[in-house]
Amino acid sequence: MTKEIKGIAASNGVAIAKAYKLEDPDLSFDTRTIDDVQAEKGRLEAAFSASKADLEKIHDKAVETMGEEAAEVFNAHIMVLADPEFTGAIEQAIENDSVNAETALKQVSDMYITMFEGMADSNAYMAERAADIRDVTKRVLSHLLNKTLPNPALIDEEVIIVAHDMTPSDTAQLDRKYVKGFITDIGGRTAHAAIMARTLEIPAIVGTETATADIADGDMLVLDGLDGVVLQNPSDDEISTYQQKANDYADQKAEWAKLKDEKTLSADGQHFTLAANIGTPKDLDGVLENGAEGVGLYRTEFLYMDSQELPSEEEQFEAYKQVLEGVGPDENVTIRTMDIGGDKKLPYLPLPEEENPFLGYRAVRLSLDRTDIFRTQLRALIRASAYGNLWIMFPMVATLNEFRAARDIFNEEKQKLVDEGVKIGDNIKLGIMIEVPAAAVLADKFAQEVDFFSIGTNDLIGYSMAADRGNDKVSYLYQPYNPSILRLVNFVIKSAHKYGKIAAMCGEMAGDPIAVPILMGMGLDEFSMSATSVLSTRSLMSHLNAKDLEGLAEKAIDAETSEDVVKLVKQEVPEVK
Ligand code: PEP
Ligand code: MG
Repeated sequence: MTKEIKGIAASNGVAIAKAYKLEDPDLSFDTRTIDDVQAEKGRLEAAFSASKADLEKIHDKAVETMGEEAAEVFNAHIMVLADPEFTGAIEQAIENDSVNAETALKQVSDMYITMFEGMADSNAYMAERAADIRDVTKRVLSHLLNKTLPNPALIDEEVIIVAHDMTPSDTAQLDRKYVKGFITDIGGRTAHAAIMARTLEIPAIVGTETATADIADGDMLVLDGLDGVVLQNPSDDEISTYQQKANDYADQKAEWAKLKDEKTLSADGQHFTLAANIGTPKDLDGVLENGAEGVGLYRTEFLYMDSQELPSEEEQFEAYKQVLEGVGPDENVTIRTMDIGGDKKLPYLPLPEEENPFLGYRAVRLSLDRTDIFRTQLRALIRASAYGNLWIMFPMVATLNEFRAARDIFNEEKQKLVDEGVKIGDNIKLGIMIEVPAAAVLADKFAQEVDFFSIGTNDLIGYSMAADRGNDKVSYLYQPYNPSILRLVNFVIKSAHKYGKIAAMCGEMAGDPIAVPILMGMGLDEFSMSATSVLSTRSLMSHLNAKDLEGLAEKAIDAETSEDVVKLVKQEVPEVK
């Protein structure tokens, strides 16, 4: 019997494939006394070899997908397995205590982990060593227990991944050739895994709550990322129905693709800039393939997350230059300074444990505290500005003083580079993201000092509604169309225009078909979204009359509930399906 599981449609498309559960198996075991020490050492040896083979495969795959440096961590794991102090101590424990290999392994690894963690406060390197030992132990244990420890890099057939959650780094490792989609228990449409799925054009459903409990490894699945439905063990008829839906969607995409080289114009000829969001220079391919007009958000924190240490000025310069050159002289590139903190952590930069990391030490707050890191990034950016039209923005700005402090540091670094005779662009724009409600409410003051705003609705909605963007339990409160959010957005746009500044939006709302007509009516200048949403949005805009939408925007702002706004848009704009 087919079972239907519902979730939040997070990335469009239809996939049909077997389930691959990305979930750690139960690795509990009993301590046993053994008679045959040699046989036990043989089991251990075999588990070491199998683990080494896994790690070599994972390492090679990681080099392909993330580059040599990011793959280095797996070499570190291989080295743990080759370290005679570590392996010898386990063999000794088997011999001395006559215990099974699992127990000996656990004893020795616990000892090392405790030792390294004891030194970790003063030394990030030691924290990493503890993490390496923990990872390697898990792998060896899984082989001793004949269980499979799943890893995206070990996938070599077409699958749909089923996981409790996907971290941004899990998502970064996915190989589109084999991974046809993913389904998670938790998460929302604007969680980073969902955003990355859209960038990679992998259909995804998040927030199903029960997918990992309901679905067994190897179950046949249909994933309908258009409507947020999963069919478990579908019938042949159901498979062909969804095959047809996949084909229809492919036809629709082919139709949109005809607009690739067009400018984005409304039916009455008004131009809107339709840009794309990227996480790495590799995403440029998607920007160009989808005919985006520039980059409206480059999330530079992924450069830090994909690295084993703080990226140098030179490395950063190369990445920023590559993006500016790739986009070319006719369009702009908005690069956001690092937004580390919240769910985006760096293994080599331990941050204090916080009760509420999303309200804590993150983004521009971290940059203004760790000015050493911030200055390096700004220098790289300013140097790269010679290669295109660079707009720089600061994330999570809450007060004018934060913006002013960041701007002062920017000006100091710029002056130093000028004094050093370095060539820099002559028209760098400085702006802020509007993600904190306090900044939205004070937009008329900010507008007098910044060059542009980019409204980060992913966070702005979360902070305004006090509903975590990744928490499916409160996803009903995460309402982009709530009139309260629309009023904030409208005020930000109008404040920008009052002072002749540009109002952009780089949150996912910018590519949401219900929101787009309202935002056009409010006069938003630039819409930046996942590259894969650009063409469908351009198509929608080309059917709408921008002037007529001003009235729609006014009615939406004056509405009472999110549901009323959806009804209003569907009534007045039949082009929105
Ligand atoms: C946002 O908050 O809307 C945004 C674009 O930033 P991020 O999704 O990276 O938090
Ligand atoms: Mg944000």
